[in-house]
Amino acid sequence: MIYFDDALQIVLSCASAPLDSEEVSLTRALGRILAADITSDMDMPPFDKSAMDGYACRVADLDRPLKVIETIPAGYQPRLAISQGECSKIMTGAMIPEGADCVVMVEHTREEEDGFIRVMKKDGPPNISRRAEDIQQGDTVLKRGTRITPAEIADLASVGCDPVPVVRRPVVGVLATGCELVEPTQKPNPVQIRNSNSYQLCAQVERAGCLPHYFGIAEDNPETIDRMIKQALAESDVVLLSGGVSMGDFDFVPEILEHNKVEIKFRKVAVKPGKPVVFGTLDSSRGGKYFFGLPGNPVSTFVLFEVLVRPFLFRLMGSSDQRLRITARLRKSLKRKKVDRMEYIPVSLASDGLVERVDYHGSAHIHAYTGAHGIIALPIGVAEIKEGSEVSVLLISS
Ligand code: AMP
Ligand code: MG
Repeated sequence: MIYFDDALQIVLSCASAPLDSEEVSLTRALGRILAADITSDMDMPPFDKSAMDGYACRVADLDRPLKVIETIPAGYQPRLAISQGECSKIMTGAMIPEGADCVVMVEHTREEEDGFIRVMKKDGPPNISRRAEDIQQGDTVLKRGTRITPAEIADLASVGCDPVPVVRRPVVGVLATGCELVEPTQKPNPVQIRNSNSYQLCAQVERAGCLPHYFGIAEDNPETIDRMIKQALAESDVVLLSGGVSMGDFDFVPEILEHNKVEIKFRKVAVKPGKPVVFGTLDSSRGGKYFFGLPGNPVSTFVLFEVLVRPFLFRLMGSSDQRLRITARLRKSLKRKKVDRMEYIPVSLASDGLVERVDYHGSAHIHAYTGAHGIIALPIGVAEIKEGSEVSVLLISS
């Protein structure tokens, strides 16, 4: 049995060779990982531009009536330079005409006779967005390894990056083991349950920006499990299997992995929920395949994906799991009797900023996680965290 932190280090170090890259159109880039640094091909803004609808003029002239010599809509080149006693009506986003050094908001002016205006209120900033004040041509605007969210989409669009170089999404094969399992569309008989792990894992894989591929349920017999593991390994970069890894009479997975030349790196981790967690690699010298065997208990599967598999998948894509961790105070004390494992506990976060344990009855009670915003850890040796203490919460809602 190894410590959780050591297990995490092992899986991360095995993912050191990132996947190849490909190009996708900007409209398909959400959630992908950038495969290259992105530089800007132009200054942003590309010219001094008006931040207001108003009149472009000279600060020195604000006390006198100003003759309006031109109207400058956004997207048009000003034709006339501003001389003493002159101004041009200008729209937000339009280019500042030569000679002007400020824009007076239209609300602060009054129209006079014969095409003149008067400035009624002088205070306020120049209302000019200066050329290159956001980004300079040649600047790196986004770094390789960045996960693309809507804000990055805007940046990529601004600098003309379409198509976008992104890391190939790993295909993550998902399969379940267990004679008691039926698919969600089926009605279980009295000794059966529905397979929830596979669908949950596929959703977690997809949320992490990877490509899930579901291979179905393997009955608990060595031939079937062997056949399905072979197929999943052949057709995926990473295989996630749930169930069959503990020490029950029908748990054959570790042996089958060895037959399939998967090099097992660990089989047990001092973590709760969890403990039997198998991780192995195949052909690690040649790009490689990776295998995670997770306990069948739904909560274990859920948590271990979030804290172990997800960081691995991000590393495989040349990134890191950029999900937020926040520090928050506990509403009620947390206590436990056995302190020999790192324990992960689901918590909900209330609008007063306090976190509270989400009650769950045990590893099968996945429904409890529908109310959880985050996960906190109780380290080995810690029996209690007192009410009001600060805890670090891994937010799991993105
Ligand atoms: P196992 O790790 O195979 O011994 O399974 C532990 C527990 O998790 C048992 O109660 C199983 O019925 C349950 N379980 C295993 N696989 C799944 C699954 N795919 N979906 C829901 N529950 C499961
Ligand atoms: Mg089983």
